[in-house]
Amino acid sequence: MRQRVMIAIALSGEPQLLIADEPTTALDVTVQAQILALLAELKRERGLALVLITHDPGVVAGIADRVSVMRDGRIVETGAVGAIFRSPREPYTRKLLREARGPHLPADAPHSSPPAPAAPGAPPALELAGVSVRYTIGRGWLGRRAKLAALSEVSLELARGEALGVVGESGCGKSTLVRAVLQLLPLHAGRVVWMGRALGGLPRSALRSLRRDLQIIFQDPFGSLDPRMTVGEIVAEPLEVHARDFTPAAHAAAVAAALSQVGLGAELSSRYPHELSGGQCQRVGIARAMILRPQLLACDEPLSALDVSTQEQILTLLGELRRASPMCLLFVSHNVALVQRLCERVLVLYLGRMMELAPAAALYSRPLHPYTRELLAAVPVPDPDIQPARLERAGRGEPPSPLTPPSGCVYRTRCPHAAAVCRERIPTWEKLPDGHYVACHRWRELG
Ligand code: SF4
Repeated sequence: MRQRVMIAIALSGEPQLLIADEPTTALDVTVQAQILALLAELKRERGLALVLITHDPGVVAGIADRVSVMRDGRIVETGAVGAIFRSPREPYTRKLLREARGPHLPADAPHSSPPAPAAPGAPPALELAGVSVRYTIGRGWLGRRAKLAALSEVSLELARGEALGVVGESGCGKSTLVRAVLQLLPLHAGRVVWMGRALGGLPRSALRSLRRDLQIIFQDPFGSLDPRMTVGEIVAEPLEVHARDFTPAAHAAAVAAALSQVGLGAELSSRYPHELSGGQCQRVGIARAMILRPQLLACDEPLSALDVSTQEQILTLLGELRRASPMCLLFVSHNVALVQRLCERVLVLYLGRMMELAPAAALYSRPLHPYTRELLAAVPVPDPDIQPARLERAGRGEPPSPLTPPSGCVYRTRCPHAAAVCRERIPTWEKLPDGHYVACHRWRELG
């Protein structure tokens, strides 16, 4: 909505040229598709000249006629979008396109090898049973309190060493799910069980020692690092809490090993966050999370503030870390295309409810839920032959307020297949023989 308002303000003077500087960065794929469709329409119908600045070749493919590729302040290649995307001359352009295309290719090899399947009957590492979270928020001029259902009846299991991607638009409950697992907020209902122990109600000391197994990487690589601390101090921070008996030598060795594990030199130890790039800051955050060798790593939108090349590097790094030390991964992202690179299974959330859960390959090749289909259709594809048509077909709806969720199926106000039953009953969470789960009254008839 805010981006639409900005576009309306920019158009109020009836300009002939509109400069859009990363207009969709950090937006959900569905909102991104709507903004890009709007820009394409303005360009077409008003004859508006548009300069679109973006790090995403898929965005370029949808609306631009010509493209200039820049590196280190220089234009390295320029020309018609079709020609450059089909046969780029410069190695840098080829690299950008290869990285951008990677996540969209169905046959693309995942970044990490799946873990060995859990033995039949083996207990799950993580279990969520009927987890619900409510937020109390102030509302209106009179400050009346209201309850917001951030997460409703989420149940799932994670095998040891498994990576689960969690996708959905802003406000769907992805980050709340991570915080519920890590016991960073109180549950309204349900329970979280880690390695056979229910985490709710554990004494503070027991929870504290369990926390060394459960670590998190945050979304904002700069904001999540204390600007007054050096890189070495930041990475060592968990040791101060969980490994107080370390000798100074063991302490220093652990920091150096953690930095090396994420591809950072020991010489960065004395630097401060403001002296680092976004990718380096995110590596520092990963080193801090990995220094205790956790058994579960929760990644809360770790790539959304990074450019395509840096996203690729961080994805590769996370894949390597999983291979080096098998651990569970909860990988939250609004970018559904990126998740399949890393995760064995993917959970789709909408307005705090589970819509679909499936092995990644099945979800991307045969999505059953209309919302999953909408998400996948909105991913920009760096192919100028098909992306303009995909933009035109992009869904136009936005999620309703979580304060007043629709009755029945919460997706029904946007769903093109909604029927009377969808208004009356909440869909049941059905399990299919191939490990696919879906919550939709009509998934069978929709094929
Ligand atoms: S239950 Fe109905 S409204 Fe919900 S996704 Fe299925 S068809 Fe659409």
